[in-house]
Amino acid sequence: PVRVRFAPSPTGPLHMGGVRTALYNYLFARQHGGAFLLRIEDTDSNRFVPGAEEYIVESLKWCGIEVDEGVGVGGPHAPYRQSERREIYLKYAEKLVEDGWAYYAFDTPEELDAIRKEYESRGETFAYNYAVRGKLATSLVLSADEVAARIARGDQWTIRFRMPENEQIEMDDMIRGHVTVNSSTLDDKVLYKSADRLPTYHLANIVDDYLMEITHVIRGEEWLPSLPLHVMLYRAFGWTDRMPRFAHLPLLLKPTGGGKLSKRDGDKLGFPVFPLQWKPQDGGEGARGYREDGYFPEAFVNLLALLGWNPGNDHSEILSMPELIELFSLEKVSKSGARFDPEKARWFNAQYLHRKPDAELAALFLPVLAEKGHGEVPVAKAERIMGLVKERATFLTDLWELSRYFFEAPQSYDPKAVAKFWKDDNPEHLQNLRRQLEVVEDFTASALEAKAHAWIEREGLPMGKVMNTLRLALVGSSTGANLFDIAEIIGREEFLRRIERAHE
Ligand code: GLU
Repeated sequence: PVRVRFAPSPTGPLHMGGVRTALYNYLFARQHGGAFLLRIEDTDSNRFVPGAEEYIVESLKWCGIEVDEGVGVGGPHAPYRQSERREIYLKYAEKLVEDGWAYYAFDTPEELDAIRKEYESRGETFAYNYAVRGKLATSLVLSADEVAARIARGDQWTIRFRMPENEQIEMDDMIRGHVTVNSSTLDDKVLYKSADRLPTYHLANIVDDYLMEITHVIRGEEWLPSLPLHVMLYRAFGWTDRMPRFAHLPLLLKPTGGGKLSKRDGDKLGFPVFPLQWKPQDGGEGARGYREDGYFPEAFVNLLALLGWNPGNDHSEILSMPELIELFSLEKVSKSGARFDPEKARWFNAQYLHRKPDAELAALFLPVLAEKGHGEVPVAKAERIMGLVKERATFLTDLWELSRYFFEAPQSYDPKAVAKFWKDDNPEHLQNLRRQLEVVEDFTASALEAKAHAWIEREGLPMGKVMNTLRLALVGSSTGANLFDIAEIIGREEFLRRIERAHE
């Protein structure tokens, strides 16, 4: 059975790229009837940010990405937070030492710094690898007694992976295809540190993927350079038969210019890059979120899914979670970066808003109305109004400005519209039209429209001008819903009152 995991490090709020990784994992899991795990990779205590884990959990929930196993829900491989699994990792690192795949290194950070500087002074870069490991203070050169003595007296040590020299490492990526790397280009990565008694990302990640029986690793492209080491670790542990398949997702790119979409771009370029608002606990700089900006989670998930993948031309771009689950395929994920387009993001939200049933929108809108002092508006009326204005809205927050004239007479008149329509005989025509309409018995849109049109035609008046003058009186501008719908909804009395007021 398919088992995938989303394995964020709680080093800050999750941004779009991270949520997209989670989403693709989730879609893949659901499509195959598999499990989606949430594992928190918090072994780097220096980069730990308080509140980040809660933020990640909340964000996934808001998106509708359900965790089957992991932090917050538990499961057969609990705990799912690496800081709570610290006893597990050391024995795996020691096993690699025993088998000759890793070694103890005793150089201190200061010593390494000094070596690095020395190389730099010669115009070279230092790599901790096959070429130099034999000349450094490691268990490869020190006697077994010396190693034991150093450990016993409390010297700091690390366990490093012994990357072989000049070997072709062959890898397969579900998106990128076959990749080959020569092992001599790679250095001996630290797997475990005595200083904090914690594994590094590489060791913890591989051990946990193995123990948690992960079948597919779907993650961002920034991890592709780590893949050769990971493949070698599976070999070193003798776990190649259970090595997961890998898929590295393309970068999300800035809307304009080059480069990777970063957490800072949002506020700078005017769009959120976080699903939810982020408020750092240390009182530092926060950032806006899609939720607070008025996006529907379904719209956010939809637009995110299409950043780097699409189901082909014969499908609509508007796809629900169940449709995404059905159509998603890793093979169709693009190799090149996906450019994020904020305009398109707004378009997605508008599409979802337009498709919402009027009753649902009315339910969301009634509290706004109450806030504006119109708590008495009946649900049926709010529903009808939603049907008339929603096509022009992108966000729920647009609805008040778009429908305000149904509840309140114009406070002012748009000067442009006034200059254009409140002149010549138009105000007089409007008075005459009012006389025609005030006596219409059945004050409904259709009856009013029939009467108005018949009269205007009979009199030989310019339809557009008269209608726009009426619109100016009712709405205060030259925009808004169908005039006769407005008339019916505001009712006879208010209709007459607004025309009178326009003449004052
Ligand atoms: N902890 C890593 C991250 O923060 C996980 C990478 C992986 O999925 O292997 O992205």
